[in-house]
Amino acid sequence: MDRIVILGAAESGVGAAVLAKKEGFDVFVSDMGKIKAHYKEMLNERGIAWEEGQHTEDLILNAKEIIKSPGIPDKAAMVQKVRAAGIPIISEIEFAGRYTDSKMVCITGSNGKTTTTSLIYHIFKNAGYDVGLAGNIGNSLALQVAEDPHAIYVIELSSFQLDNMYNFRANIAVLLNITPDHLDRYDFKMQNYTDSKMRIIRNQTKDDAFVFWNDDPVIARELKKYNIESRLCPFSILKKDGMIGYIADGEYVIEEPTPFNMEQEELSLTGKHNLYNSLAAGITADLSGIDSEQIRKSLSNFKGVEHRLESVCDVRGVHYVNDSKATNVDACWYALDSMKTPVILILGGLDKGNDYEAIRELVRQKCRGLVFLGVDNRKLHEFFDPMGIPTAEVHSMRDCVTECYRMAQPGDTVLLSPCCASFDLFKNMEDRGEQFKEYVRAL
Ligand code: ADP
Repeated sequence: MDRIVILGAAESGVGAAVLAKKEGFDVFVSDMGKIKAHYKEMLNERGIAWEEGQHTEDLILNAKEIIKSPGIPDKAAMVQKVRAAGIPIISEIEFAGRYTDSKMVCITGSNGKTTTTSLIYHIFKNAGYDVGLAGNIGNSLALQVAEDPHAIYVIELSSFQLDNMYNFRANIAVLLNITPDHLDRYDFKMQNYTDSKMRIIRNQTKDDAFVFWNDDPVIARELKKYNIESRLCPFSILKKDGMIGYIADGEYVIEEPTPFNMEQEELSLTGKHNLYNSLAAGITADLSGIDSEQIRKSLSNFKGVEHRLESVCDVRGVHYVNDSKATNVDACWYALDSMKTPVILILGGLDKGNDYEAIRELVRQKCRGLVFLGVDNRKLHEFFDPMGIPTAEVHSMRDCVTECYRMAQPGDTVLLSPCCASFDLFKNMEDRGEQFKEYVRAL
């Protein structure tokens, strides 16, 4: 019996273990941290051996193959040892792909993955398809393949998942954009991160489709390096030659395979970035043969995803927006770009090497005040203070909301779009967004 060892026992690792057990492997799961109770239960119920708080080399280095959680960096000592021992490392998605012939719709990009994946899932689901949501959201692909199979999977893929994918093939691959992110995991080399994103088209054949944002300079440059066999489906928010989807005169248009259009105003998601996301989703649905009326309905009644430009409420004429998921500068750029009123912008947290130059002009045009919410706000002060916009420094969400309330005038928008990760003051970006909403609603 071949031995498979899984490093990391969260959603993807436990899913992979369940599938590996079902397929008859000798399975062992190892996690350096503590495994959550319900995952332990899942492993125990299925008789899968596991350990936590350590990696026992003797139980790991005898594997035929290792499935690594995307959260574990290559630099981790155990991963280095596995590599030195010459044991192949794959991702959970790669593993699950071996045991299903279902249609794979895969979405990647630096920003917009969750929104676009959720929107595509929403369209397929409303159209009555047997569809599963997987990858960074929902249950892991492996668990679904093992115990709750679907005819179609809509999968959000991060660069970390793509890194350990080799033979997996996406029937429809969606690439939204490539901007700097997670460079700490890629030797601070943008090309390494870019190469990882481009893996989404690996193994595609002429029967598959590649949906991508045509105007992204990085994607445009990369495409020249690849000999792509799949059907190319570029989109843009401008009507140009060769575009499958675009916006023209306030109309959302898809040209192929089934011509389709609707008023831009009818789209439920707002902001320029969401035009891209809505185009990518509509093209994917159209390519999959979903009826135009269904696509129109779903694009106009999608509720959006929590913590992504999420409208919270109005208090004394001030609108509050939670975009806690904006953990990089590019995401904040799009949030600011979509603002139609003066803004009090909340910035700060753990900076992943940000260059704020990209938002300087929008901040100058739109922001009435800036509130810095982080343990260490020096970099923000250095960059933004010389602009002469009123600023405040806070170290808790309670103080942050109080400060925003004080600064804002009727007609303004208070926008939490912090450009940074949240771990200095919060458990995660969800916690940051929840706290924001809670204090705003209590005003
Ligand atoms: P991801 O899953 O890639 O992190 P999300 O859909 O969760 O993407 O959105 C993350 C952040 O990026 C949010 O602040 C959102 O408003 C912003 N965003 C969403 N779509 C795009 C896009 N196409 N381009 C740039 N920013 C985007």
